[in-house]
Amino acid sequence: MRLPRPAAFLAFALAACSTSEEPPEELVVAPILTSAEAQDEFTWAKPTEARVVHVSLDLGLDFEAQQVGGTATLDIAAADGAREIVLDSNGLEVSSVTDGEGDPLEFDMGDNPDGDEKGEPFTIHFAAEDGVVTAPEQVVITYKSAPGAEALQWLSPEQTAGKEHPFLFSQGQAILNRSWIPTQDSPGIRQSWDARIAAPAALGVVMSGIRRGDPASGPDGTKIYTFEMEHSVPPYLISIAAGDIAFAQLGARTGVWAEPSVLQAAKDELGDTEAMIDAAEELYGPYRWGRYDMIVLPPSFPYGGMENPVMTFLTPTFIAGDRSNTGLVAHELAHSWSGNLVTYASWRDGWLNEGVTSYIESRITEQVFGKVRAEQEYALSYAALAEMVDEMGQGNPVTAMRTPPGTSPFDTASEAIYDKGTVFLRTVENIVGRERFDPWLRSWFDNHAFQPATSEMFLDDMRENLIKDDEELENELMLDEWVYGTGLPSNALKPDPEAFAAVDAAVAAYADSRDLTEIETEWPEWSAAEQRRFLERLPEELSPSELGALDNTLGLSDTRNAEVQFLWLDAALRNRYEPVVPQAEEFLTRVGRNKFVSPLFAVLMAQDEWGQDIAKALYAKTRGGYHSMTRGNVDNIVGWTE
Ligand SMILES: [Zn+2]
Repeated sequence: MRLPRPAAFLAFALAACSTSEEPPEELVVAPILTSAEAQDEFTWAKPTEARVVHVSLDLGLDFEAQQVGGTATLDIAAADGAREIVLDSNGLEVSSVTDGEGDPLEFDMGDNPDGDEKGEPFTIHFAAEDGVVTAPEQVVITYKSAPGAEALQWLSPEQTAGKEHPFLFSQGQAILNRSWIPTQDSPGIRQSWDARIAAPAALGVVMSGIRRGDPASGPDGTKIYTFEMEHSVPPYLISIAAGDIAFAQLGARTGVWAEPSVLQAAKDELGDTEAMIDAAEELYGPYRWGRYDMIVLPPSFPYGGMENPVMTFLTPTFIAGDRSNTGLVAHELAHSWSGNLVTYASWRDGWLNEGVTSYIESRITEQVFGKVRAEQEYALSYAALAEMVDEMGQGNPVTAMRTPPGTSPFDTASEAIYDKGTVFLRTVENIVGRERFDPWLRSWFDNHAFQPATSEMFLDDMRENLIKDDEELENELMLDEWVYGTGLPSNALKPDPEAFAAVDAAVAAYADSRDLTEIETEWPEWSAAEQRRFLERLPEELSPSELGALDNTLGLSDTRNAEVQFLWLDAALRNRYEPVVPQAEEFLTRVGRNKFVSPLFAVLMAQDEWGQDIAKALYAKTRGGYHSMTRGNVDNIVGWTE
């Protein structure tokens, strides 16, 4: 069922006002923010002239050609006098555009002088009748994605666990969805959507919307799936995955999809999901999206997770057998409030999604796994931030939470966005107290639900509803320095020194003695975070015999935890430890998660010919298996030229 939509003029009136006295829970058409702070440099759209309010996709998946194709019907709202609507495209092959009645409309694909990921402006010209240009209520675009569309990764059967069927998944964030959906691809232009997808009958399809009914039989041995997202969402959240997938129920409103051979391990690992939702709801109000399902993708997925609504996408590398990496799930779930419910209007406010989410993740972790684990994770965040500020300099613009103009959304420092955001909110929480901070943060989500937001709005709301003219408190919080300044503000809440006291003492002792006798007994008792801390703090230089002893004593090569394995490979490769090379090659061939792949290639390239030769020969073999996002990074690291 689709929600009734207001007439175009009303939609535009709503679009023009950025705040209202009592915002309703959801405006059917979310406002377009017009402040300078809300401007998105990475869209061609001019949403105050004409904007998309709903996207309706009718697409077929062509695994042979590696293209999706069909129609996109866009409901639009236009201001009086608008003569065109400008969409974003990245390589879309458009064959025709009509209005909702089927009358053809003229369109043109413009140029992008920079030839970068912003893609091309796709302008649809409104028709004139008796000399008067009138905006249609709908435009219908018939098109195909280009082969190699950056949002889509088409996997051969060999790249899946089952090895029998191909697999497709999309990754829209940041500005990749314009390579398969012709719309205004900007986070401040929220759109509801629905889709009808024809896929080969052997494959299952999921999307980031609620599935309507069972799949129907289509022509040529296809199955037709229908999905709907009735809430308006930033368009980077429209996503799809298709493959040989099966489903397991976790709780009343939660479940997991995965390839059949991965399903049981995924289900076991995700057993805390309902408890996580309960914890988040208790703090920040109801989960408003209906179901919360997840799909565990093949290992080439470039991220840890992606918070696609009602269907979080996950890397299989979080599965460790002991739920030690499920902070990732807490993180993606937290985005159901920060990021998906309230979303940054421009990419420069990345912290509003990721920093706030990392903070909520830590609150969920505390609730579900206890304070010790939460404090350890905070200590890791704080250390990452402090190290980055140390390295880059207190005044360096890359350390700012609100990123400098022109910063590509693919090019932000996670320490400045995720870690600094967490440390900021923990600092505020610590100063004002949870009994005041928690209800305020909840009210922020309630008051801006399904709407775009900016840093300025966040601070205004905090001042109005939390600080309430308390000048002393205002000075103590240093809000502007946190959000707009660089470096680490002086009031930052330090982590609990006890968080890693035992591990830090052990690793310091090891650095002196290179003796593992005591660590051997402690290691199995340590949490995954403690094991990671130990490996992260190992001496830079280790001899082959020391590396051999670490591996044999701690069983590093046999770990099921990809985070631990990554740190082990990093330590071994930076010391040119030959015996680890086959393991590194296997890992980098199987896994495409950028967090692991880019640093390991960087560590090889930082060596002499030994590492550089390994990196170049290996990358020539693995490059085709990586997602475009990972590929883009590693291309730079190894100096790849086609
Ligand atoms: Zn996130």
